[in-house]
Amino acid sequence: MDIYRKVSDIRLRLDKAEGVVGFVPTMGALHCGHLSLVKLCKSATDITVASIFVNPTQFNDSEDYRRYPRNVESDCEMLKNAGCDIVFVPSEEEIYPEPDNRIFDFGNLDKIMEGYFRPGHFNGVAQVVSRLFDIVKPDKAFFGQKDFQQVAIIKAMARQLNLSTKIEVVPTVRENSGLAMSSRNALLTETQQKNAAGISQSLFRAKEAVKQNVSPAHLKNEIAEMINSVPELKTEYAEIVDGKTLEPVSDWNRHSEIFACVAVNIGKIRLIDNIQLK
Ligand code: AMP
Repeated sequence: MDIYRKVSDIRLRLDKAEGVVGFVPTMGALHCGHLSLVKLCKSATDITVASIFVNPTQFNDSEDYRRYPRNVESDCEMLKNAGCDIVFVPSEEEIYPEPDNRIFDFGNLDKIMEGYFRPGHFNGVAQVVSRLFDIVKPDKAFFGQKDFQQVAIIKAMARQLNLSTKIEVVPTVRENSGLAMSSRNALLTETQQKNAAGISQSLFRAKEAVKQNVSPAHLKNEIAEMINSVPELKTEYAEIVDGKTLEPVSDWNRHSEIFACVAVNIGKIRLIDNIQLK
């Protein structure tokens, strides 16, 4: 596995590469969720490139950026064992040789949920992903369903910029408890990890409740109540939205794909999760 820190070096390598290039962008502190993206990428492409870069422009909270877990050495070891071919670990100067002042317009896609509660977050995501795509020039790029709204944003960005990169979505990998794997889980105490499983348990119960004909408005409140009844968990939002437009759903029958999405604070850590209801 080759590790590159400079844009010029990874470009030299990729210019010589033959076949379909697959790309898995990450912020590191890798877990089995990230590795499932690598696995899928390997099975669907000829060369698997992963990147590790904690992107400052997508953090609306400087404290969150400061304490974000960073373990590049063990990450590279995990990527090597997973059969990754190339890892790109750029410095901030390599990604942003000049400040990125681009403002994207995602319409309603970034006005709700994560977009509402983390202003500027998706603009930063679009900046870094478009820059990384520009460097790696992947044929296919792999993103986790765990970040449901991010997938909608990346697809919109790829359309707006006329990119030929195909966006592939990978199912959420969970702990045995149901807790969605996340780099931020490493910041939780053992008790908090146990309590945090209440997030996914509430979403699983919500999926069952859909069969009992409850209204979306009612179910959305129920999800928040179920989560808030677990010690330490505080729901920031619980939404039931259309799978493509992310518009709030009021009638189960008017949408072909429906997701329940939540953001939950546990101590100082903020976690997100989602489940497909239809
Ligand atoms: P991050 O390092 O958090 O930016 O995540 C990098 C990629 O891994 C994103 O596409 C995430 O959606 C994906 N990812 C993170 N957690 C999971 C998970 N539990 N299951 C599947 N994909 C994930």
